Formats: sequence, C-alpha cells, structure tokens
Amino acid sequence: MWTRTLAASALVVACSVSGALLPAGPASVPTGSSPAPSSQVAVPAPLAGRLIVIDPGHQLGNHNFPRRINRPVPAGGFTKPCNTTGTATNGGFAEATFAIRVARTLRDRLVALGAEVRMTRTRNSQDLWGPCVDDRGRAGNAEDADLKISIHGDGSTAAGARGFHVIRPTSREGWTDDIAGPSRRLALDVRAGLRDRGLPVANYTAGGDGLDARGDLGTLNLSDVPTVMVELGNMRNPGDARRMTSDRGRATYAAGLASGVRRFLG
Ligand code: ZN
Repeated sequence: MWTRTLAASALVVACSVSGALLPAGPASVPTGSSPAPSSQVAVPAPLAGRLIVIDPGHQLGNHNFPRRINRPVPAGGFTKPCNTTGTATNGGFAEATFAIRVARTLRDRLVALGAEVRMTRTRNSQDLWGPCVDDRGRAGNAEDADLKISIHGDGSTAAGARGFHVIRPTSREGWTDDIAGPSRRLALDVRAGLRDRGLPVANYTAGGDGLDARGDLGTLNLSDVPTVMVELGNMRNPGDARRMTSDRGRATYAAGLASGVRRFLG
C-alpha cells in the first residue's frame, strides 16, 4: 500500500513537471526522466484523518479494588461486573501488562501512519482500577471513531491450547445490529493481519478458524463503531507465554494488528 501511494504521487509530480512547471529556455529542456526534487513530493499518510480507539484490557490493580470491580454496570440490555482481574502467565506476567504494552506499540505504529489514536487507559498500576466495561464499550462513540480494538490475552488451562482468536459482536437488535456487519469485516481483516505475521490461530476455540462471535460482552455490545476484541494468545500456554512476555513477540502482535487496521480502512 505504501509503495503504491509513493508511486502514484511520483507520477503526479512527473506530470506537473512536464506539463506546467518547466519554464522555457535551453537549460530546461525536459529529459522525460529527471526525478522531481523530493521536497516537492507530498505523500499523504495512509491513515491521516482516521480516529482509532485502542482498549487495553483490564488494569493491573483491579484485584486490589474488589468492591469497585464487582459493581454491576450496563453491558447491553443486562448488567455485568465493572471489570475483571484478567489472567496471567504461569510465571505471573499479568494480562493487563501484556495488553498495555501491545497497545502502546500499536498506538505508536498507527500514529506514525497518520492516525489519531485514543486509548481507554494509558497507565498500568497496582494503584489503579478500571475503567469499567461500559466506559470501554462506549469509548469512541461520541467522536464517531473509525474502529475500536480491545486487546486481551486468554487464560485457558486446556492441554495444548494456544493461538489467537478475534471476537466480534453478534447482531443484537437495538444494540449491535448496526455494527455487526462492519465488525465482522474488521475481524476478518485483523485475523489476516495477524496471520500474515506468522501468528497461529487458536486451536481450542469453536470452528478452529480464529474467529468467535459473542453477545455477552459489554465492551462490544455498547459500541456504535466497528469493533473487535482480540485474545492474542493463551497466556497459560508455555509457547504463547514466551511470545507474549518478550518485546519482540509483542511487536509482532502490534504489527499484525496495525496491518489488520490498514486492511480494514483501505
Ligand atoms: Zn482479558
């Protein structure tokens, strides 16, 4: 995509050079192959004008605030607890920490591509809790964001369970029937982006295709913009845990997600 954009812009500059910018005179006879000065080539950033919401799951200190975390909040026609503690690797690396680190790397990538990015939380601390799932679910609605991605890691104890899966909202009348279609497309694009980075789809979810649809998640139900939740790996699986606890592994997840976003936004 980037290469194509560059090529198109270079073509435009070449046309304007030969058609309008060259003054008459023997010193300026067009050769037809002179490169334009690079300072005159304005290449638009591929995600300029896009607003993307990133929702890093949980908060490191959630377990320290049980009363606040267990408070029921709206979740799309029913209530659910404000938030949960999340899972961890067998070595104790918290899902909340994994999520915020992938989110920050993803944010930096998207900003570098020209996007405006909002995060539902920017800090990760034992002294903090939340936000609740209703706030996460509504994030980006007022600003009509282009999409929202919620980042998680799973905690399955099934033997050999590994890989990522992408969860989209089911179509629920009055709640998600307006975003179910584009969210399904977003799920397919995010799966493709992660697969392209060599990441395996989950071998323990129904269908075995790395996709799931749920109607019980406030984070998805309350969204008015296309949204998915990604379980990037199974933190209880030693192989996935190795990837999820390394800078290089997290960079791979972020690159896959950024690639999915670019596919979706064309
Ligand atoms: Zn989670």
